[in-house]
Amino acid sequence: MIKSDSHVHTAFSTDSQSPMESMLLRGIELGFSSVCFTDHMDYDFPSETDEPEFLLDVESYFNELNRLSGKYTNIKVRKGIELGLKENIIGECRDIVKKYPFDFVICSTHLVDNMDPYNERYWEYGDESERIRHYYETTLDNIKMGVDFDVYGHIDYIIRYTPYMKKVRAEGRIDEEYMMKHLSKSMDVIEEILKVLIHNGKGIEINTGGFKYGLGHPNPNEKVLKLYRELGGEIITVGSDAHEPKHLGYDFNKVPEILGSCGFRYYTEFTGRKPDMKVV
Ligand SMILES: [Zn+2]
Ligand SMILES: [Zn+2]
Repeated sequence: MIKSDSHVHTAFSTDSQSPMESMLLRGIELGFSSVCFTDHMDYDFPSETDEPEFLLDVESYFNELNRLSGKYTNIKVRKGIELGLKENIIGECRDIVKKYPFDFVICSTHLVDNMDPYNERYWEYGDESERIRHYYETTLDNIKMGVDFDVYGHIDYIIRYTPYMKKVRAEGRIDEEYMMKHLSKSMDVIEEILKVLIHNGKGIEINTGGFKYGLGHPNPNEKVLKLYRELGGEIITVGSDAHEPKHLGYDFNKVPEILGSCGFRYYTEFTGRKPDMKVV
């Protein structure tokens, strides 16, 4: 069993109300050996309110991480971050990673052309398949910008938010054909993303949030996980992307089989930015 969650949000992220301690207590309840907190830092996020969104208060964040790691000795608190990349904030992203003693750094594409694909506006600029492809092309640009990260987060995240998928998910259905069609239409770009990651010694994650969002798959899809492995990729972390205690370790019981069928004998946990390979 996988006993550590490497992608976890707390109230330090704009989109979570859960105290860090409540997430950690859930980890203890599940018998986890560690929890890696990866709260959001999305510099220059286009906020829809007067308040800035997704700006992490890094000093307070580390204070709480340190307090909890002193308080609980039966679970390890790993100190991570999920950095949302985009072109105009690369300097800030490079700096924060250098400045703080993170155990683990996830970089992700949350914005494309400064638009959140979660919002309908993103989809007004072309047909669905072009907009999906554009997300991957943006990710390819992002990973080449020289930010020092460990893994790239939820590579096929875009599929959660296409107008069609939102409708299908709301109806509680899964449209496998649609997902596979759009995945194969962008597979050449995804392959290039994976090749660059592998060349740079970077990993990917298996994000079980995909199951929570009703995709019937993790993010990225098994096809992408398998291709990463076939191309020579070895570093894969396991995270739920939980924003509430009840989602910590979400569907982790499905992960060993997926990893095995995609050719992975190990998964990875990062401490002090160093990969530690664990047998699946
Ligand atoms: Zn994310
Ligand atoms: Zn996340």
